[in-house]
Amino acid sequence: MIVTRPNVAVIGGGLAGLSCARHLQDAGCRTTVFEKARGPGGRMSTRRGADWQCDHGAQYFTVRDNRFRDEVARWEAAGVAGLWEPRLVELTAAGTCARKAPDSVARFVGIPRMSAPAGWLASNLCVHSGHTIVDMQHDRAGWRLKSQEHGMHEDRFDAVVLAVPGPQATVLLAPLLPLTARQTPADMLPCWTLMLRYRTPGIRFAPGYDAAFVNHGPLAWIARDGSKPGRQGSEAWVLQASARWSAAHLEDDDEAVCAALLAAFAELGAPPPDAVTAHRWRYARAANGHSDQPDQHGAGREPGLQREAVWLPAVRVGMCGDWLAGGRVEDAWLSGRALAAQVLTSMACTTSS
Ligand SMILES: Cc1cc2nc3c(=O)[nH]c(=O)nc-3n(C[C@H](O)[C@H](O)[C@H](O)COP(=O)(O)OP(=O)(O)OC[C@H]3O[C@@H](n4cnc5c(N)ncnc54)[C@H](O)[C@@H]3O)c2cc1C
Repeated sequence: MIVTRPNVAVIGGGLAGLSCARHLQDAGCRTTVFEKARGPGGRMSTRRGADWQCDHGAQYFTVRDNRFRDEVARWEAAGVAGLWEPRLVELTAAGTCARKAPDSVARFVGIPRMSAPAGWLASNLCVHSGHTIVDMQHDRAGWRLKSQEHGMHEDRFDAVVLAVPGPQATVLLAPLLPLTARQTPADMLPCWTLMLRYRTPGIRFAPGYDAAFVNHGPLAWIARDGSKPGRQGSEAWVLQASARWSAAHLEDDDEAVCAALLAAFAELGAPPPDAVTAHRWRYARAANGHSDQPDQHGAGREPGLQREAVWLPAVRVGMCGDWLAGGRVEDAWLSGRALAAQVLTSMACTTSS
């Protein structure tokens, strides 16, 4: 049978899945993205309330690869990303604050929120939000997917891309395929995150910097969300705990985590906020990935992975995501792109015979 326009399902609407889907669609494939959350973006995410917003996943992204540079230029032209030039410091021990020398690193953010580039990428894709894929079934006619919320999807797919964190990909794939060591996901590190709001007039944390790498205690990163371009709403700060602290307190309840991290923030001179929301990222960063943030006290890094993506042509299943490619936003986008190229090559080979 000649498949003239392969029908590809992409599980996961983070940057890797959207990048893969866009490249496949641009090459003529039909694509359908299934995303369990209410919208696309994954860990490039922003929490919003009635009068506030705060990026609580990726804080910024950097550019090393020229292909990603071109993509970021497209995002800038569309008005969904731009440079963030924070007053950045490093807090090396309680009370000491070393201003970071101006570095040559260009830091980008989504505008008006971190999830904006994902929204732009998704805008001309078929994305089914609120679909948590819980089962994949294969027969001679192709792949069928079942979601927790909507049951078995009516379409049959020629190929399936898993663009979810490695441990979540394993849950879906392991019952179907024996994965080799090379295809088995690396561990991922957690990150407890707090979003703080200051609404009381006259009460602000104004330390003379916008963001800080914190190299002691439970905190690893703090940032004033309003210092990023295009932000609106109440004064908001994000606090991210180190990987080591987050792992040690992974199963703590929100209340205990808030108490510990707010105490550490108070030691930096911050007044108590009016409202706090906690979020636990169980799978924040690949344990063997790269990081732009020196948040690694305790993370135990190994050299980064260089696989980019995994494609299993016999069953037409692929995996992409930052965890395969290095752990950053840029790596996620490149991984999705790399997998799309492999799918296209493979499908062309198998469909033209
Ligand atoms: C706290 C934190 C701070 C970070 N800071 C930075 C930073 O400063 N700079 C940087 O470059 N990177 C940073 N990162 C990493 C960056 O966010 C990721 O590299 C990137 O967003 C990963 O994209 P992805 O598409 O590979 O995965 P994800 O964004 O995780 O996308 C996977 C998607 O799959 C969905 N999904 C999962 N399971 C299912 C299922 N069964 N069915 C349907 N959908 C499913 C998820 O909801 C999610 O939307 C940070 C991450 C975190 C968590």
